[in-house]
Amino acid sequence: MDLYEYQARDLFEAHGVPVLRGITATTPDEAKSAAAELATPVVVVKAQVKTGGRGKAGGVKIAKSPDEAAAKAEEILGLDIKGHVVKTLMIAEGADIAEEYYFSVLLDRANRRYLAMCSKEGGVEIEQLAVERPEALARVEVDPLVGIDEAKAKEIVDQAGFDAETGAKIAPVLIKLYGVYTAEDATLVEVNPLVKTGAGDIIALDGKVTIDENADFRHPDHAALVDNAATDPLEVKAKEKGLNYVKLDGEVGIIGNGAGLVMSTLDVVAYAGEQHGVKPANFLDIGGGANAQVMADGLDVILGDEQVRTVFVNVFGGITACDEVANGIKGALEILGDNATKPLVVRLDGNNVDKGRAILNELNHPLVTQVDTMDGAAAEAAELAAAK
Ligand code: GDP
Ligand code: MN
Repeated sequence: MDLYEYQARDLFEAHGVPVLRGITATTPDEAKSAAAELATPVVVVKAQVKTGGRGKAGGVKIAKSPDEAAAKAEEILGLDIKGHVVKTLMIAEGADIAEEYYFSVLLDRANRRYLAMCSKEGGVEIEQLAVERPEALARVEVDPLVGIDEAKAKEIVDQAGFDAETGAKIAPVLIKLYGVYTAEDATLVEVNPLVKTGAGDIIALDGKVTIDENADFRHPDHAALVDNAATDPLEVKAKEKGLNYVKLDGEVGIIGNGAGLVMSTLDVVAYAGEQHGVKPANFLDIGGGANAQVMADGLDVILGDEQVRTVFVNVFGGITACDEVANGIKGALEILGDNATKPLVVRLDGNNVDKGRAILNELNHPLVTQVDTMDGAAAEAAELAAAK
């Protein structure tokens, strides 16, 4: 989950990273009173969108009075920044910037390490810097078992080419930012720019944080960071029901047990759908316990997707055997009643497959078609979706 800048700012503050004050606003009036409350000679009106390059897109503006803050807010609210419409602003204290630097720490999956990146040339688009002058961007491996301690922080600032005095000021901030990274179970903490002010203070002026949702169980407080308004309503519903669901842009709904099977189901449906002009509509792994309620919840979410025309239920019976799954489908159709409106193509295989198929044959439900193979079922589901 990516956080908004103001949420990153709050986390930074909570972990002792130096930041400036910031107040969120959703209207020009709120922006005006926020600026009045900050009462600094300069405030910055900043679009809160989960994408970079706001400054360039006109989403970051300086204001020298509360009235000017309201006027800038008026300009920025509703702006479309790379497909993100601005609904929230942060009114932040203005900084007296002497220099802009860059720092990030992220999960480097390929190397099974963390990677810290740092540059004396921040503020600019860092991707561009990395391509055009890679030597200006220090890349330092971080051992997760050691983290960014004093020695590592010194290595990072030295490699970035900071002079001893500036480096000594930045190093403790990097250690604090690493504290945010580990304590919050983040996979990315990025600060661009990390600034030195006219007075020589180091401040994190912009923050980008990505939280690892797999660690949500350790962080009850992270639930408050979720922006349901910006999340797909079907994904919100699936999450409430504890389902592992991702909405995609297609017509064939997919339910399977086990992430690997569901992923390969997406592939075969994409392949079978090519000639019919249809695609998979979602990823949904119902896991091991494919009972009636879980199956009903899954179907309910998928049938709620208006784009969906057919649903492919692909189950390989293991510990949860095919007869239990078949009873799950039967029960789900009873629970859903008239809300089950679209054809289901079911492929059962594995443990107790004969019993499972017999249960569905006996049910003889008008919406259910059984196909014995995965490829055959994918072709059937795609064909039915195209015919609709
Ligand atoms: P981004 O474009 O989405 O990365 O937004 P940033 O928050 O990084 O702001 C972009 C640029 O605006 C920064 O690199 C600064 O040059 C400038 N900026 C942001 N806040 C301030 C501030 O408080 N004072 C001044 N003078 N410039 C700022
Ligand atoms: Mn930035």
